[in-house]
Amino acid sequence: MVVNLEGKISKIGQNMKSSIIREILKFAADKDAISFGGGVPDPETFPRKELAEIAKEIIEKEYHYTLQYSTTEGDPVLKQQILKLLERMYGITGLDEDNLIFTVGSQQALDLIGKLFLDDESYCVLDDPAYLGAINAFRQYLANFVVVPLEDDGMDLNVLERKLSEFDKNGKIKQVKFIYVVSNFHNPAGVTTSLEKRKALVEIAEKYDLFIVEDDPYGALRYEGETVDPIFKIGGPERVVLLNTFSKVLAPGLRIGMVAGSKEFIRKIVQAKQSADLCSPAITHRLAARYLERYDLLEQLKPTIELYRRKRTVMLNALEEYFSDIPGVKWVKSEGGLFIWLTLPEGFDTWEMFEYAKRKKVFYVPGRVFKVYDEPSPSMRLSFCLPPDEKIVEGIKRLREVVLEYGKEKHLL
Ligand SMILES: *Cc1c(COP(=O)(O)O)cnc(C)c1O
Repeated sequence: MVVNLEGKISKIGQNMKSSIIREILKFAADKDAISFGGGVPDPETFPRKELAEIAKEIIEKEYHYTLQYSTTEGDPVLKQQILKLLERMYGITGLDEDNLIFTVGSQQALDLIGKLFLDDESYCVLDDPAYLGAINAFRQYLANFVVVPLEDDGMDLNVLERKLSEFDKNGKIKQVKFIYVVSNFHNPAGVTTSLEKRKALVEIAEKYDLFIVEDDPYGALRYEGETVDPIFKIGGPERVVLLNTFSKVLAPGLRIGMVAGSKEFIRKIVQAKQSADLCSPAITHRLAARYLERYDLLEQLKPTIELYRRKRTVMLNALEEYFSDIPGVKWVKSEGGLFIWLTLPEGFDTWEMFEYAKRKKVFYVPGRVFKVYDEPSPSMRLSFCLPPDEKIVEGIKRLREVVLEYGKEKHLL
């Protein structure tokens, strides 16, 4: 007899889903395939020689620290480097070590925030489309969502205000806990929240006594335009928690995420993390810390930024060439990050269209994946960072054929 596992799964366990993106991207393994699906950085950008050298050193010479259990909060040497980096990048000052904790990627921070604040009576505010990692992390704790459409300059604040005032009127505002925002170069939508909307978000959060979770993995990957003050800087650590990660600017294999917040908030995260994993790996913390001491991350990133900027231009030009004559198609010219969000005319369902794309061997992530509630979407996420230039052009050309074929068959064009 085999054990009846299904019958034993907890309520939270029943709510977990495996990432649809992973399923979809299995098709992209074919060698003739062109995939715009992956949301991962180009491995050639990882500073492997530098990291290899430091890794040897910290294992041989600092083994008392690197191979031992560490504190839950993580490496104090890395904390000092992060404090410097936050000041240089964004002019954030006034924080000390107790305002920081490291997690196993930002994903763990999302999970711990879900665990601490959400249950079946709670709500959190997510945008539409939203980051899949956040949807999954929050949904597993049985949370409910206030879904707010994303515009070209961030969330539609009229809708947000209307929905929150509804909760207030019905005496349910205390059940709404926080607003989750990807402020720079949104994944998947590519948009950056404007300074005006950042300020307004803080005001709304204060009015309804919510906190804001600002997730900023891409802030350092800006290809054009000016840096915008983080919501964290505008609202301060009592109102906003800032999530950051080395996944997109150094190497995701390090699995180093970071939370900056009020000391009280960080203490709560420390407690939640203790029961999850005791501590994060000291070895990757110290590796990153010594790397940041020895090399200037922002300088080191320049060739990576150059590379992605070029690929982004290649994709934008290809879209211009192959899509500008199809009425009703639009795309977001994101100023940074890894993605372009392409929206087809009304009636298109990029999930259904995926079957057509499979035949032409071009892959994208259907917009439906980023919907909080499972609904059809005319949009798709295109990542430009992995395919070589000529494949980007070829892939966009194939995508045009897919769109025309599907559109004609469904009488949409
Ligand atoms: C890539 C990404 C992350 C990073 O996740 P890690 O767990 O740190 O690798 C977090 N948030 C968003 C919006 C992302 O796109």
